[in-house]
Amino acid sequence: MEYFYYSIVLALSVQFYYKLSMKKKIIVFTILLGGILACSIVNRDPARIHREAMVVDLHSDTVLRMVEEGFDFSGRDSSGHMDLPRLKEGGVDLQVFACWLDTNTPAEKCRATVDQLIDSLDAQLGRNPDKIEQCRTAADAERIIADGRIAAFYAIENGVAIESDLDNLQHFYDRGVRYMTLTHTASNDWCISSADTTPAFHGLTDFGRDVVLRMNELGMIVDISHAHPWAVDEVLKITTVPVIASHSCVHALCPHDRNLTDEQIKAIAGNGGVIGINFYTGYLSKEYNDLDNSFEAEHKTEIDSFTALYSDYGERRRAMKDIYAEFGRKVDSLGIDYNIILDHIDYIVELVGPDYVALGSDFDGVHRIPKGIDDCSMMPNITSGLVERGYSEKDIRKILGGNFIRVFQQVCNK
Ligand SMILES: [Zn+2]
Repeated sequence: MEYFYYSIVLALSVQFYYKLSMKKKIIVFTILLGGILACSIVNRDPARIHREAMVVDLHSDTVLRMVEEGFDFSGRDSSGHMDLPRLKEGGVDLQVFACWLDTNTPAEKCRATVDQLIDSLDAQLGRNPDKIEQCRTAADAERIIADGRIAAFYAIENGVAIESDLDNLQHFYDRGVRYMTLTHTASNDWCISSADTTPAFHGLTDFGRDVVLRMNELGMIVDISHAHPWAVDEVLKITTVPVIASHSCVHALCPHDRNLTDEQIKAIAGNGGVIGINFYTGYLSKEYNDLDNSFEAEHKTEIDSFTALYSDYGERRRAMKDIYAEFGRKVDSLGIDYNIILDHIDYIVELVGPDYVALGSDFDGVHRIPKGIDDCSMMPNITSGLVERGYSEKDIRKILGGNFIRVFQQVCNK
């Protein structure tokens, strides 16, 4: 019926147009053309798209700073990548706060260590209820964001947290944890790490499989970032719901054990899952890794002597500041900027479509990030880049957050 009215309006307009003098015809035509151009510019305005989209970051390690450095995220603090003022400035609507723990944490202290991290995050949220609130479901997130506040999504990075006891999964679920990264840079008792070159078992043990199935039942998302390809295969074989790779990149563009092969990307897409692109230069750029390796080989003697002298990482970094400065200058000369993140997004979109890619910054967990995305306030640059590369607004909204919200709804809305 609508089309009927549209055709009458169009017919009357054409009749009216043809009755005008040539001069008036030119004026009306110019106004129309100007209007169409103005509308298309406004429609493609990256600032508006970013503001109206739900912007999600699938991974940050800022909680560790809260415990180790007494960091208060309510004020601006440029010594790290993230705080509340800069999250707001960057238009981030949902931020994942990962509670990370080292695989070498004594087994009996793992649960308590993660509890301490969650306590610290709870306390900071408690002091800023007008700015941020924990979300346990996608519906929570939507309510909090509609309110103009940031939704805080709690996660655990490293399955050692549960001390090989499924009751601890329930405990963390009850505290609001909604995803768990199964392992980290070293294998644990039940899941092999991507960095492990001598795996003791085939990806997951029987208990590891029980963990995945229990997470499915509870409504906690399984995160396969850091997991060995065998473990990823095992997870995808048994999971009944979509999984995520919260902070990983594309292996074909940057061969690194932390990145995903084409086959893995296809398998995650087949499972309906999502991959958050990591902002760490070492997972994004092959050139950077080549430079890193050659620089290290060149300065091996100096680096070895400093390593022998200083066992503390901080002290060693301070002592080696001249070497790091020289390395920094060489990295700068590579001219790597945020466009490299877009290259990884393009690759996944070309391989499997726009429904399976997202952003997983790893802010405050990595030491080198491309220019133009130096901290969380610069997230709008990603949107500008996607607009420049010709992505539709619909696809941009999916990549910025819609894809993750889909998985959040599917897995956690219990
Ligand atoms: Zn990580």
